[in-house]
Amino acid sequence: MGFKFYLLSSSMRLSYLMFADDILLFSKGDASSMMIIIRTFSTFSATSGLRMSKGKSNVYFNGVSEALKADFLQVSGLVEGRLPFRYLEVPIKTTRLNAQDCKPLFDKIMARIRILGIGNCHMQEVAWICSSVVRWIYTKPDLLWVKWVSNIYLRGSAWQDYSPSTNSSWYQRKICQVKDDFHQAYQQQNWVPNGNGYTISNGYEFLRLKSHDVPWSGFVWNVWTIPKHGFIAWIYHHGNMNTKSKLHRLGIREDSTCCICGIAEETMEHLFFDCPYSKCLLLCMGAWMGINFPVNNLLTWRLGRSGSQVQKEILDAAINACIYNIWHQRNRSKHELVLVRPNKLARLIMEELKMIFRGLDRRNLNRREEDWFQELLRRGS
Ligand SMILES: [Zn+2]
Repeated sequence: MGFKFYLLSSSMRLSYLMFADDILLFSKGDASSMMIIIRTFSTFSATSGLRMSKGKSNVYFNGVSEALKADFLQVSGLVEGRLPFRYLEVPIKTTRLNAQDCKPLFDKIMARIRILGIGNCHMQEVAWICSSVVRWIYTKPDLLWVKWVSNIYLRGSAWQDYSPSTNSSWYQRKICQVKDDFHQAYQQQNWVPNGNGYTISNGYEFLRLKSHDVPWSGFVWNVWTIPKHGFIAWIYHHGNMNTKSKLHRLGIREDSTCCICGIAEETMEHLFFDCPYSKCLLLCMGAWMGINFPVNNLLTWRLGRSGSQVQKEILDAAINACIYNIWHQRNRSKHELVLVRPNKLARLIMEELKMIFRGLDRRNLNRREEDWFQELLRRGS
């Protein structure tokens, strides 16, 4: 007697799925197949020294006699799990998940998003995944998920003509809805005006939510700004820095005093503009750039300043660097009890920016801008 596959996966000869350090094994519920799994585990353990964590493992039966169940549980030392099977605390089932099913995972994701200070970015992610899925079905026949869809759902019919049955899962129906939307848009040339073929990126652009640019998008995302500086500046402009004042308001911290000076409440205004440490840093950076950096409302200052576009972008890169470094020093002060003196930090920032600036294409700079730029490179050393 040999190993027999689980009914739905026999055509694909699928006996396991792995995700990170988790593994799911499937077999027909007969004594022979289940004993082969146990023997294989024993051989694996004897060879590798790695053992299954029985406290974190479960076995699930369907259509298996009580006597066979009892034998298997006794021999394997495993505990029977309750259906529906859960992964990341979410039940894995063919019917639509309700809000309560998803709540544990949703709470974890939202907690992470709150820590990062990111708002409604999940819809963009969904759009990207959907546009990818539609392309995979056409171009990646070897993917396990595509094989599964072909064997279990399509069963020989063409993907573009396929309609889900009323018994199909919610996911299946949603993916098919996206497929139909794409198909209709493709026929009407809504997303491929030049007649080019489908790409994930144009599918993504078609699906994603679009809104107006915020007034500070150009301040944060420009070629002179280092991406890590831009990312923190982006959170800053959202007003989502997790200062001690904010955490205090949320009931997470009792103490709300500034991590750097320890004498005032750590609001964003204080930390980035009013703190003696930040004032000194901005003074040094302003002297280097020949300007007075803002003392409070950064957005108003950015919208009202003069100068050429390139000069503004270079100033933006510098102030984004200041925001990043003040936040970095604040975190080091809080977690490592270390703080670099502000005038030394200003020199480090200048050197880093100069190195970046030298490497960028400046062919579009006019003579006046180039002179200003060269003067910037000479100063502050
Ligand atoms: Zn302070």
